[in-house]
Amino acid sequence: MKTNGKGPALLRLNNQKRVMTQLRKLRVTSRQDLAQTLALSKNTVSLIIDDLLEQQLIEELGPVSVAAAGRPKIGITLRPERLKSAGVMVERNVIHWRICDYFSQVLAEQTLRTETRNPTRLLAELAMLCRELTEKHPDLLGIGIGFPGIVDPRRGWMHLSSHLEWQDVDLLTTLRKHIRLPVRIMNNVKAAALLAVQQAGLSVESGHFYLRISEGIGGALVQHGEVFTGHSWTAGEAGHLIVQPGGPRCCCGRRGCLEALVSQPAVKQQLAQRQPGLSWQNRDSAPRVVDEVMTQAGSYLGAALSQIMLLLNPATIIIDCPWNVSAAFCQAVRETANSNALAFTAAHTQLCFPEQRIDPANGLALAVIEQSEQRVG
Ligand SMILES: [Zn+2]
Repeated sequence: MKTNGKGPALLRLNNQKRVMTQLRKLRVTSRQDLAQTLALSKNTVSLIIDDLLEQQLIEELGPVSVAAAGRPKIGITLRPERLKSAGVMVERNVIHWRICDYFSQVLAEQTLRTETRNPTRLLAELAMLCRELTEKHPDLLGIGIGFPGIVDPRRGWMHLSSHLEWQDVDLLTTLRKHIRLPVRIMNNVKAAALLAVQQAGLSVESGHFYLRISEGIGGALVQHGEVFTGHSWTAGEAGHLIVQPGGPRCCCGRRGCLEALVSQPAVKQQLAQRQPGLSWQNRDSAPRVVDEVMTQAGSYLGAALSQIMLLLNPATIIIDCPWNVSAAFCQAVRETANSNALAFTAAHTQLCFPEQRIDPANGLALAVIEQSEQRVG
């Protein structure tokens, strides 16, 4: 690695960031273990830990083990409530926010109904909300703000959102004028992907694909702990893979996209067409009809997943979806994905159907924490 001559202060800051990441991931560790895992001298680690103790960001737990020779290991842990972050998710006519601690536990949250059609008006509302949150929680590290659509996270620029009906909106410049804290702008699903991979305890070394089905369908590949956005920020937009040529019209203007067949509104409509008033929650009123619709939705999704498997070869695909409670749905997804992909690829891809849904606002709060841990210089 090139030395850039930026001096020991920068080196120490970056070492402190690495220690924070370890403390967040391991929850409980010791000076000795940190030194060993991060390949730092015991002295360097001790200086950082003493500094964090002084700032009351961590606490010592007492001896966790006594080695045969040498000093006992003293357990140290973060005080997660001392370092909060906020996630604010914008969806069509909804703002949903969460304040989370450093371990992604929710401390406060609210969902607000509002008119989202006009970007200027909505950004003013967001700026006001962020100011309120900052006043109420003076110890916030930063705020992650998420939107549906094609978002360039570096420039904080919204290229296009069919759900909000926005095009070419400068998000970051406007928000930065009113928010003193670090702000991270992201696509909602991409932020949810970071949290999904962390919660599933998956290896950072491998690539994992996260697919989210709600009002729309989006996805993201998380590799080395980071979201892969692609050349024009649309990597992972699996909702617009065409799975039924000539099928129903999608909000993107084309026909037969996965989103037009398997999103929450699409499946609701299919059930209502089969039997008025029917929904997937009341399967018992017409189990055969519900299972047929679920099987059809599952096979469309499975077809899309087989393409994702072959193109990206992820170790895991996490399907975050309201119908994971339906056995017919999960079975159809597995069967179609396995039969449409190469057998070797399918055998090495784990499909996960978590019952607990991911809240993108939590993911946005986590994205802020991860950004604060990124090395600088
Ligand atoms: Zn589409």
